[in-house]
Amino acid sequence: MPVKPVEKIWMNGKLVNWDDAKIHILSHVIHYGSSWFEGIRCYETKKGSAIFRLKEHIDRLFDSAKMYRSEIPYSKEEVMKACKETIKANKLKACYIRPIAYRGYGDVGVNPFGCPVDLSIAVWEWGKYLGPEALEKGIDVKFSSWNRAAQNTFPTMAKSGGNYLNSQLIKMEAIVDGYVEGIALDVNGVVSEGSGENLFVIKNGTIMTPLFVNAILPGITRNSVIQIAKDAGIPIVEGNIPRELVYIADEVFFTGTAAEISPIRSVDKIQIGEGKIGPITKELQKRFFDIVENGNDPYGWLDFVD
Ligand code: PMP
Repeated sequence: MPVKPVEKIWMNGKLVNWDDAKIHILSHVIHYGSSWFEGIRCYETKKGSAIFRLKEHIDRLFDSAKMYRSEIPYSKEEVMKACKETIKANKLKACYIRPIAYRGYGDVGVNPFGCPVDLSIAVWEWGKYLGPEALEKGIDVKFSSWNRAAQNTFPTMAKSGGNYLNSQLIKMEAIVDGYVEGIALDVNGVVSEGSGENLFVIKNGTIMTPLFVNAILPGITRNSVIQIAKDAGIPIVEGNIPRELVYIADEVFFTGTAAEISPIRSVDKIQIGEGKIGPITKELQKRFFDIVENGNDPYGWLDFVD
């Protein structure tokens, strides 16, 4: 979906006009994918505008940069404050927040050490990621012919720009083949995740989700769902999931900042359960949206903008 411009973007400590938020073509990031970013949502809850798990997202941003020996030249507190400042400057109640740290202009070789680590924060309005009906009706997905990167190639626990070339291949293949999204296996043939979502499978009342070593991003929505399920008394385990278990599951769903909790109704044209949202997925959605929409937050996950 095309981005609707807002007024200001935060760049290296300053709020600049949307159209002026530019970088040099020889910036390292453009050539070598050297960026680390976050996707965060600010919800307009009944108790006011609040950012969902801002601290955890900023922690992950710093962790991603650290894996690449890159130091973000601001404190976590400064970055969190800048996220709120950018939302306020654009007078948005609900939005998507995209902080991105990247190796900037300085040196054009592969070695990034001669390039500064720059930081920018953009915000914009964003609707339902997998389509307006996805949350209720479920989506049709396929297993991708692309695997996630092997653990000894790139760190998949980093949310780094370069990793999204793999995500793009998964997403494009799915769309060209007539599906909403793809699920990738890891290099060992075990279930990993979607192009931008973590995956959960439910069989006989137990929820299962892949491990970090299955080349997944440690999703913050994933972590939230694990916590919510535990508190709801629903058994939940992290482990290796064979592909065929997805086909015979009672319920399958994706999680992500953009996807929230999106039920999957078919995989490779095999109907999952009854081909619609299942009771456990529905219960998890209910509890999740009670936090982000109603502002009933027993976890302290909402960080209010004002
Ligand atoms: N996996 C990938 C590859 C992603 O891009 C995302 C979105 N950030 C997720 C999983 C879900 O993570 P989160 O719940 O933190 O948005």
